[in-house]
Amino acid sequence: MTLPIHGLHHVTAIASSAQGNSDFFTRTLGLRRVKKTVNFDDPGTYHLYYGDGQGTPGSVMTYFPFRHVGQGRPGLGEVGETAFSVPQGTLGFWKERLAAQNVQGLVETEAFGEKRLRFLGPDGDGLALTEVAQDARTGWTGTVPEAQAVRGFRGATLRLRDEGATGELLRFMGYDRLGTENGVTRYGIPNGNGADIIDIETLPGAEHAEQGAGSVHHIAFAVPDRAAQLEVRKALVDTGYQVTPPIDRDYFWAIYFRTPGGVLFEVATDEPGFTRDEPADRLGQDLKLPTQHERLRDRIEAHLEPITD
Ligand code: ZN
Repeated sequence: MTLPIHGLHHVTAIASSAQGNSDFFTRTLGLRRVKKTVNFDDPGTYHLYYGDGQGTPGSVMTYFPFRHVGQGRPGLGEVGETAFSVPQGTLGFWKERLAAQNVQGLVETEAFGEKRLRFLGPDGDGLALTEVAQDARTGWTGTVPEAQAVRGFRGATLRLRDEGATGELLRFMGYDRLGTENGVTRYGIPNGNGADIIDIETLPGAEHAEQGAGSVHHIAFAVPDRAAQLEVRKALVDTGYQVTPPIDRDYFWAIYFRTPGGVLFEVATDEPGFTRDEPADRLGQDLKLPTQHERLRDRIEAHLEPITD
């Protein structure tokens, strides 16, 4: 049986400042803000989405900015690093650009034959740019020229005590185990959307992560549509996972389940996408509210920290 998962859909993390977060992802990394909305369960908090021009699944980094949240503490049971794909030969450009903008934690590394520039986001978020030779996706050219632009995710690194059960789950989800290098095991999805890689970094002696600003809240995998999502849900439930029913998130449908290593996984549909409630040329500009919160618009707008572009 092959499940219809074809890579990452989005990665959702926690920030301390909406403005600082928006500035970093749009100005520094050059992504497009493709949606400005609120947290469904906490409409006094923004939910900001950044990605390529359309917010194509596999390119979308999202954040919940909580003004008074404490700093997260990196550790086990979380996504430790989120990596974006950039064209071959561009890490020099990026290193200079990020250094000039005072981005912290810049370290060049190489793993699995790929050059990677690791760095920290505004809340200490573990981020990286990876040079990928074969990536047909087109990046958004907001503040970065097309020749260097981020084309979407390359993948994410899970930090775990051991690879065991989570590795088994990834294989069940359709990932191939590609190899191990320096304590990191790489999994890849065949025929994926470009956001193809999940690395498992095992740190047996480390402490569990504490979630806060700079932490990833959950990671979402992509399926084409709701029928495919039900198929994945049934397979997971039959295997013994406790999976939520499909939840309407306006721009996709979502199911969630906790993995053996502690990371929260989501499976999200590629449809209907971010043009559901605003035209493609206006994405991310106006505050869009989920239908059930629209009647509270005045109160919500008065409460939210304004974001200037
Ligand atoms: Zn999500």
